[in-house]
Amino acid sequence: MPELPEVETVRRGLAPVMEGARFERVEARRADLRWPLPENFARRLEGQTVTGLGRRAKYILADLSSGEVLLMHLGMSGSFRVVAAGEGSTPGDFHRVRSRASAHDHIVFHMSNGGTATYNDPRRFGCMKLVPREHLDEEPLLRALGPEPLGNAFDAAMLAKACAGKKANLKAALLDQRVVAGLGNIYVCEALHRAHLSPKRKASTLAGRNGAPHARAVLLVESIRDVLSDAIVAGGSSLRDHRQTDGELGYFQHNFRVYDREGAPCPTEGCKGVVRRLVQSGRSTFYCPVCQK
Ligand SMILES: [Zn+2]
Repeated sequence: MPELPEVETVRRGLAPVMEGARFERVEARRADLRWPLPENFARRLEGQTVTGLGRRAKYILADLSSGEVLLMHLGMSGSFRVVAAGEGSTPGDFHRVRSRASAHDHIVFHMSNGGTATYNDPRRFGCMKLVPREHLDEEPLLRALGPEPLGNAFDAAMLAKACAGKKANLKAALLDQRVVAGLGNIYVCEALHRAHLSPKRKASTLAGRNGAPHARAVLLVESIRDVLSDAIVAGGSSLRDHRQTDGELGYFQHNFRVYDREGAPCPTEGCKGVVRRLVQSGRSTFYCPVCQK
């Protein structure tokens, strides 16, 4: 499942063909993804210019000249294939791309600059929605989301306040989208390892007795920002590699420190621990029991 850095990478990959361009033709090859597509979906997009391409948590938001916002979520298995004008026209590329993916190519955006963005989603948990810009704050999918982890509003005081008095452990608290938006299983494991904090620790210990943030909250916020920023940088380089091959966007390989590395030596300098796997709320947590307290 794509996490925030992957979604940000997809946004950056879409920007060259979508930002500032007009939807010339929209092919909706089926009537639904996770939910039915908006009524008159293609017609409401065609002729509109994308005036900006942003992101909120794991939603990509395309601002349209019509005053509506196209909200896109990749779900479990969604990806975009982006082809700029003049690219991808060699027979080999064309053949490989079509044979691999065409059955799940559900939506194709043909842009006025000659570029195309094709949405592919085998499991169809993704979604596309059209929301009037002035009603975006009340949009149910976005309304309950906490602060952006890379935004200015997210800091130790805010995190400590959100966790004060919580019975949940740190892992569960960070996965709660109302506490911080867009964090998933992988980057929560990675951030907790960087901050040397145990996933089993009570979330409430991020706040001191007077509710002020404990030093570990400061460290954790820093670790979350670092782990996401590093992944976005890695995504940027994978984006360049991908563009050289077939323009497929959505997934890339990372070198994780603990995620999916059960039994590996802990990468913390001087730590002799071994990465362990633990199941919390039905999901795997990877951590080092020696240096994460
Ligand atoms: Zn360790």
